[in-house]
Amino acid sequence: MTEGRDLQTSRHVLVLGAGVVGCATALTLARRGYRVTLLDRDGPGSGASHGNAGAIAPLAGPQATPGLPLKVPGMLLNPTGPLTIRPTQFVKALPWFLRFILESMPSRAEANSIALYALTGRAAPAWKELARGTPGESLLRDVGWLKVFSSDAGFQGFAKEIAFMARRGAPHDILTEDDIRQMEPNLAPIFKHGVFQPDGLCVRNPRRLVEGLAEAARDLGAEFLREDAKTLTLDPDGMPVLTTDKGEHRPDQIVLSAGAFSKKFARTLGANPLLEAERGYHAMFETPEKSLNRSVYWVENSLVVSPMETGIRMTTQAEFGGLDGPPSFARLERMIPNAKVLLPSLDITVRETWMGRRPSTPDSVPYLCRSPDSDRVFFNFGHQHLGLTMAAISARVLADMMDGRPTEVDETLQAYRALR
Ligand SMILES: Cc1cc2nc3c(=O)[nH]c(=O)nc-3n(C[C@H](O)[C@H](O)[C@H](O)COP(=O)(O)OP(=O)(O)OC[C@H]3O[C@@H](n4cnc5c(N)ncnc54)[C@H](O)[C@@H]3O)c2cc1C
Repeated sequence: MTEGRDLQTSRHVLVLGAGVVGCATALTLARRGYRVTLLDRDGPGSGASHGNAGAIAPLAGPQATPGLPLKVPGMLLNPTGPLTIRPTQFVKALPWFLRFILESMPSRAEANSIALYALTGRAAPAWKELARGTPGESLLRDVGWLKVFSSDAGFQGFAKEIAFMARRGAPHDILTEDDIRQMEPNLAPIFKHGVFQPDGLCVRNPRRLVEGLAEAARDLGAEFLREDAKTLTLDPDGMPVLTTDKGEHRPDQIVLSAGAFSKKFARTLGANPLLEAERGYHAMFETPEKSLNRSVYWVENSLVVSPMETGIRMTTQAEFGGLDGPPSFARLERMIPNAKVLLPSLDITVRETWMGRRPSTPDSVPYLCRSPDSDRVFFNFGHQHLGLTMAAISARVLADMMDGRPTEVDETLQAYRALR
């Protein structure tokens, strides 16, 4: 599978962070003949990539859209609403929130939609190519991505998203009550409208998918180091130096893909990314995966139920609680009855709960670029709610940049730059 480059003479790249983004990058580079070291303080896929909803979703709308900031107070007051902001974090993240408001202006939102869809619109084919021949290949299911609405008002409130899809040329079908019933017979008969994106994929076990990428990279000679990174600097010759709890690494190049933890490392390379840990939660239920054919997003209640090989998973919430604050499962527990309303056959005995940190940017697009201070350090982080979706295509774009080739998203590459 190596493309041209001799493994022995190629340059040595260290990928910091073995989430879905880091593992996708490591495998892509290993296939191109780079000598790859993948470094993480935990096992592959143990961060946000462990417990997400498993949707590879070709979304066209950014998070910040015109009018959204005005809805935030109402969201915060709703005890089962999707959004929580811890007061101390609100103060710390004020620059992020102010930028989010700016990004919700119509012209900014449109530009962000174009930059976002340039990646998400290529996500499914990129995943099929990346996963081919890896242990997780069979976990990808070609079943699309379904949103359902239980009220006319909820569907009407989604008009902006549909308009983004239409302007981007994103394939989508508007569904009636009957269409939904046929696609997902086990959903409660309360859903009046649906939006289906046929080119979405569902992943039956996101953690295993990531582990499979890491395993495939190892089969191509990549080494995996379990170390806790402390600092990332440049030596006087401009070569990158990574220190960890176990020592020092001096590779030829470094890719920073530590998800929500990337900010402190990027700061020493001339960038000051607006990156917040937007925490989300999941609950796993015993109910068999065959109860659903695909991930389903109930828009009014901001919850997703997904069929996993280990049962049904409910994911929810956007919580601005900082990187290190303890998880708070109270809101997740309050939302579980809604999952039962959505899927009446759900056995709501909870087998596992989990919290993960989405690496979120105010403009909804990742940092996918060279670092400002060094052309030997590359950024691949900040994939917000869509890191699983964008991992494979981001890895391919980054590998093209590192190889000095044109990328398939050259028209939007500026949007992913470090200083913006
Ligand atoms: C509830 C929830 C549902 C979601 N659903 C979806 C979905 O359906 N579809 C989708 O596309 N996205 C979804 N996401 C978002 C997606 O999970 C993330 O965008 C994605 O996992 C980010 O991947 P990452 O590799 O950048 O970060 P991570 O997976 O967090 O990986 C970062 C890695 O860096 C390592 N690391 C950090 N600091 C250090 C250090 N100092 N030293 C060594 N290692 C370090 C961590 O251990 C970790 O393994 C969801 C997220 C949540 C929370």
